[in-house]
Amino acid sequence: MITRLTDGIWVVHGGKNGRYPYSHSLYLRDGGGVLVDAGSDPEEIERLRDGEGISTVVMTHYHEDHFTYISLLPDAEVWASAADAPALESLETLLAFQAALGNEWEARYRKLLAEKFPFAPRKVARRVSDGEEMRFGKTAAIAVVAPGHSPGHLCLLFPKEGILFLGDYDLTAFGPWYGDAPCGIEQFRGSARRLAAIGADTCVVSHEGPVHPGPVTGKVEEYLSAIDRREEALRGFLREPRTREEIISRRLVCGRGNDWWWLDYAEWSLVSKHLEGMILCGEATFEGGRYLLLP
Ligand SMILES: [Zn+2]
Repeated sequence: MITRLTDGIWVVHGGKNGRYPYSHSLYLRDGGGVLVDAGSDPEEIERLRDGEGISTVVMTHYHEDHFTYISLLPDAEVWASAADAPALESLETLLAFQAALGNEWEARYRKLLAEKFPFAPRKVARRVSDGEEMRFGKTAAIAVVAPGHSPGHLCLLFPKEGILFLGDYDLTAFGPWYGDAPCGIEQFRGSARRLAAIGADTCVVSHEGPVHPGPVTGKVEEYLSAIDRREEALRGFLREPRTREEIISRRLVCGRGNDWWWLDYAEWSLVSKHLEGMILCGEATFEGGRYLLLP
C-alpha cells in the first residue's frame, strides 16, 4: 500500500504495519525515483521500479529489516551516511556493528543474514554527512545524521514540504533501540531530542503507524521514558547478584513467553548498555561472574 503525503513524497507501507521483519519506506517521485529504505513491500517496490523508476536507494541505516528487498534494485545507486556505509559494504562490519560477532548469536545471525534477509555487500556511491543537502530533481532533503540507533542513522528533512523521516527513531511503545556496538543510551537521547526540536509539521517513522503529525516533542519524551523504566526494572532485579545468563533469561526489556534466540540477543544488546552505564557511575559492580547493585 502507498500513501501520498504530497504529490512527490509517498509512504510505501511495510507488511504487518511495518513491524519487524518489515519497515516502511519513503518514495520520492523526483530525480529518477528514490527509495528510502528497502524493507517495506517487495511487490510495491517492483511496481515502482518498473513504473515510475528507482534510480537511488537512500539507506537510513544498515539494519536487516531496512535492506531486505534491496536485491530487487541491483542497478540503483546506494547512498548512506559515512558512519553506516561500512556495514552495508561488508558482512563482517555489519555483524560487528550489530554486536553479533564473537558471541553465542554469531552463527545464527550469519544464517539470518544469509536466508531471511539476504545480505549482499553494496558499494555506497555517496556518503552523506550531517547537514548536507541531497537533491533529487527539484526535491531537496537535508541530511540529519542522528547517532544512537546506529552510529550514523540518517534522517531526511524535506524543508519545503515540512516532512521529517525519523526512520528508527520510531516512537513505538517498545521504546528505543541503542543496542548496537558503536551506540549508546545518551547518544540516542540526544539525537531523539534534536530530531524533536526540528519541529517538522509531519514526521514519518519506519515502524507501526508511519505518519505522526508534528510537533512530536511529547511523543519523543514518552518514547524515551522507556529507557528509565528499563533501568528501574534492572535495578530491582540486581538487588541480588545475577549472572549474564540470568539477566538475559529474565527478559526485563523484551518480555518472556517467546524463546526465539533473537530476543535473547536483543535483550542482552540493550541491557548491557544499562549495565555499562551503571558500572561506570559506581551504581553497580561485576564480581565473580555476577552483576550486583551497590548499596
Ligand atoms: Zn534499526
